Amino acid sequence: MSVLVVGSVALDSIKTPRADRPRLLGGSASHAGVAASFFAPVRLVGVVGDDFPARYWSLFRRHGLDLGGLRQAEGRTFHWSGEYEANLNRRRTLATELGVFERFSPDLPAAWRQTPYVLLANIAPSLQIHVLDQMRRPRFVAADTMDLWLNTAMSDLRRLLRRVDALVLNDTEAQQLSGSDHLVAALGRIHRMGPRYVILKKGEHGAILSGPAGLFLAPAYPLPRVADPTGAGDSFLGGMMGYLAGGDGPIEPRLRRAIVHGAVVASFCCEGFGLRRTDGIRMADIRQRVRALEKMVRF
Ligand code: AMP
Repeated sequence: MSVLVVGSVALDSIKTPRADRPRLLGGSASHAGVAASFFAPVRLVGVVGDDFPARYWSLFRRHGLDLGGLRQAEGRTFHWSGEYEANLNRRRTLATELGVFERFSPDLPAAWRQTPYVLLANIAPSLQIHVLDQMRRPRFVAADTMDLWLNTAMSDLRRLLRRVDALVLNDTEAQQLSGSDHLVAALGRIHRMGPRYVILKKGEHGAILSGPAGLFLAPAYPLPRVADPTGAGDSFLGGMMGYLAGGDGPIEPRLRRAIVHGAVVASFCCEGFGLRRTDGIRMADIRQRVRALEKMVRF
């Protein structure tokens, strides 16, 4: 079954202590969409400007993404720039230039409204709601968010949370959203806001899934070297949703494996700048790391 992915399609300028790379293909929907495409057909919803390079359209096509919902508008593509410290877990946003995003209001092609899996990657919660409003009884909806929306769009975010099956967020965002810095207590409070599943991302330390069947402590794939973690969270969610959409049967028993597949795609993302490394992998590479992880956590 297909996954509908909505979010930002961006040009990212990324600085790390080792490198400075301008205008790479980035954005929450780009990372999530490519990650999901390893497992299931992807329908991408977003907007780019007239400066969006042809090679990035080709990259999306190479991964089989259906681009019927990716509009090209007059103006500049959303541009984000960020700088990492020597500890790559610490990042500072240098600039966010909305460009064509400022007037973006996603209208889905009619045939896409029945897509069973919906991935609301990080964008303004009002836009995530606008997309959900157009969907007809989706089977599973997962949303991502960021601190910006916790600070500026809390009431929209609360409205959104009542309508999603799963929320993915990092531990500091969970503390902010719930008002509790005890993670297990924070999970309980977030469930009460709506989502049946809450997935806490903890970067290189993995993730925690909380749901009706209890907790799952998901590992991260240990990498010897990280080049650029930008988009890891989006790749994680994209891989997870793609895996769910690519299989059948009830969600609950497949969720743990879906999360591990998401973690593995995210590990590839971190090994290169932008989508560089993820672009070059195959299903066999993903399977190999999943098997390696299985060995590491078995006891
Ligand atoms: P992550 O590393 O998972 O936090 O995701 C980074 C991606 O989010 C980058 O590729 C950015 O282009 C994108 N991004 C950053 N800020 C925003 C924003 N305000 N809205 C939508 N996407 C954003």
